[in-house]
Amino acid sequence: MKRFHGQFAPGGDPEGAPDAAALDVTRLLTTITDNLVGMIYRCRIDANWTMEYVSDGCHKLTGYRPDELKYNRRLSYETLTTPEDRTRVARVIHAALQSGDAFEVEYRIRRADGRLVWVLERGVGVRDARGQQVWIEGYIQDISERMAVDDMMREAVRRYESLFENATEGIFQTTPDGHYLSANPALAHIYGHTTPDELITHLHDIEHQLYVQPERRTEFVRLMQAQGTVRNFESRVYRRDGSIIWISENARAVKDSQGAVQFYEGTVVDITERREHEAALEYQAHHDSLTGLPNRTLLRDRIDQAIAHAWRHGYQVAVVFVDLDHFKLINDSLGHHVGDRLLLEVAARLKACVRGNDTVARQGGDEFVLVLTEQHDEDEMLNVVSRLLDAVSQPWSNNGQEYGLSCSIGISCYPRDGEDPDALLRSADAAMYQAKASGRNTYHCYTPELNQAISERLELETSLRHALDREEFRVYYQPRIDVASGRVVGAEALIRWDCPGKGIVPPDSFISIAEETGLIIPIGQWILHEACRQNSAWRRAGLPPIAVSVNLSPIQFRHTGLVDAVAEALAEAGLDPKSLELEVTESFVMHDAERINVAMQSLKSLGVDIAVDDFGTGYSSLSYLKRFPVDRLKIDKSFVRDIDSDPDDAAIVRAIITLGHALNLRVVAEGVETAAHLDYLKLHGCDEVQGYYFSRPVPAMEMEALLDDSLPGPA
Ligand code: C2E
Ligand code: MG
Ligand code: MG
Repeated sequence: MKRFHGQFAPGGDPEGAPDAAALDVTRLLTTITDNLVGMIYRCRIDANWTMEYVSDGCHKLTGYRPDELKYNRRLSYETLTTPEDRTRVARVIHAALQSGDAFEVEYRIRRADGRLVWVLERGVGVRDARGQQVWIEGYIQDISERMAVDDMMREAVRRYESLFENATEGIFQTTPDGHYLSANPALAHIYGHTTPDELITHLHDIEHQLYVQPERRTEFVRLMQAQGTVRNFESRVYRRDGSIIWISENARAVKDSQGAVQFYEGTVVDITERREHEAALEYQAHHDSLTGLPNRTLLRDRIDQAIAHAWRHGYQVAVVFVDLDHFKLINDSLGHHVGDRLLLEVAARLKACVRGNDTVARQGGDEFVLVLTEQHDEDEMLNVVSRLLDAVSQPWSNNGQEYGLSCSIGISCYPRDGEDPDALLRSADAAMYQAKASGRNTYHCYTPELNQAISERLELETSLRHALDREEFRVYYQPRIDVASGRVVGAEALIRWDCPGKGIVPPDSFISIAEETGLIIPIGQWILHEACRQNSAWRRAGLPPIAVSVNLSPIQFRHTGLVDAVAEALAEAGLDPKSLELEVTESFVMHDAERINVAMQSLKSLGVDIAVDDFGTGYSSLSYLKRFPVDRLKIDKSFVRDIDSDPDDAAIVRAIITLGHALNLRVVAEGVETAAHLDYLKLHGCDEVQGYYFSRPVPAMEMEALLDDSLPGPA
């Protein structure tokens, strides 16, 4: 097939001979010239570029009629060209003329209406008959619109470049096989390179050089293939220096018109800080802030895991509840910072007793829970438990002071005592309470009967909370007798709880609960007031004057309001301070000697007497005893009981009496039940006695009768 050449063959048959005769080329050219947007010209090559011919388009282009420009009749075309562009235009044209080429030049002209427009001039030199270049023929068109578009394009490109260059997000284009096509400075910076070029040359295998887990790249490509985009794709990547950061990528696949993937492009943000923050929050949510041990939440998970594992392999799981004995005392007396240090110490000791896959968690306060996994039998568990008891009871020294510690342990066992974390924890907790009740520093395994005991204790706690309001407390008094005169010289106030449905509840059954719950503070204040009021009433009734002793709980002793409470009780009753004695137990006195001393001094300055109760059961340092403002020692009843049968006890009692006297203290023996007890004590110079031999603790009315008789002797 022939090619179609015939530009000037209107209606002609391209296959046949051109119909040249029918074509009026001159007319055709005139039509085109007159209707062309733009101006066809011929000008002389002279100083003014004198136009010899311009087409009608001149008017549209310049605002001047053709005859105004022709032969410079009104003005030359040269003067339309802006002065700034003239030299450049002339240079271009002359260069083209010289080389005999056509030229193209863009410049601005000032139109008749004053507007400046961009034009494109294309032309070529034309020779005369002698072969001299004397004219230029060409075409000038208005390109303002195109220039404006170009400007916009340039501006847009500049803006996008600026975005790319200055973005804080990393921006990239990569090939699907993992090469960088482009990267911006932010990306280079995120990945630890100085420049994008450095990044592009260095990172040639994204899968292995960049991703900490190369599978992430596989996943990235898979997502790209499946959905063409990835959103918030978070991975860990290596920076140039080998450090690891977290990034989040958003990207899409760019396809050609056939739908084939050309490259991937997207953005990268460094989310390391956010991830670290999240990890920290996550850690905080699952760990105890003081010890770093798993907290309750994580503990439950761990028990769940251990159960699942045990279920598959036929093991048992032991949940071991560890509660420190008397922690509140240490915490209140030595301050929280010491309490915290102690908890850290205990945490470390507990951890040292178990294997790596066991868990030591802090349940809160002074309660720890251990999860012993893969247990075969009871012996194995009890071995660990005795190690725990042993480890915790090692003395602990802080700031040169030594403290004796102990804990109570409750054990429950999967699957026997529960099938889920809550049940196991409840059972272990119940067993732990049993261990406390059996005298602390021991363990107890869960038995179903414990539930009964626990609910009773809870019930007791609930009723105890209302006992004060409901006026269920009573004070019993037990006389204290002066051995020499046989007279009643004092009475110990002993609290009783008249609990509906239970009758009179002895203090040993509820004082510890009151201490744990803090109820001891109001209860203690109540008995102080009551004892002072009663003593003052006896005084006013003309009964022989006696001192009433009130027992103070250690918890109460640490309470800042104690001194005020004592002063207030005395003032309210109008009682001489000499008629009030406060009893503190020996073991507690030794716990925090320095602070106790300060508190005792302020109590003492009120004028009250102070007695050390249950003397002989603690480990008093004699030097403290000497420095403390103490008036009386009360020999613990456990020594008095066997005074006549156990030579050791007898010796201890004698020694205490001697010691007390050497320190100028009066010595009282409690638990005197028989005449033989009394005889022995009398023989060895004990100053005062108290016990069932004279009277059991009795209600105030009966005590009043005793005072009235004022006659010593057996009850
Ligand atoms: P305590 O201060 O050593 O009181 C002496 C205990 O020995 C009393 O027990 C008393 O009834 C008992 N007792 C007295 N004579 C004899 C005797 O001849 N033989 C025997 N076997 N025991 C005798 P109680 O009243 O059950 O009080 C027990 C403990 O409860 C008291 O020991 C004291 O530590 C505490 N307590 C009692 N009342 C209060 C109180 O109001 N506040 C505080 N914080 N503790 C109290
Ligand atoms: Mg007492
Ligand atoms: Mg006592």
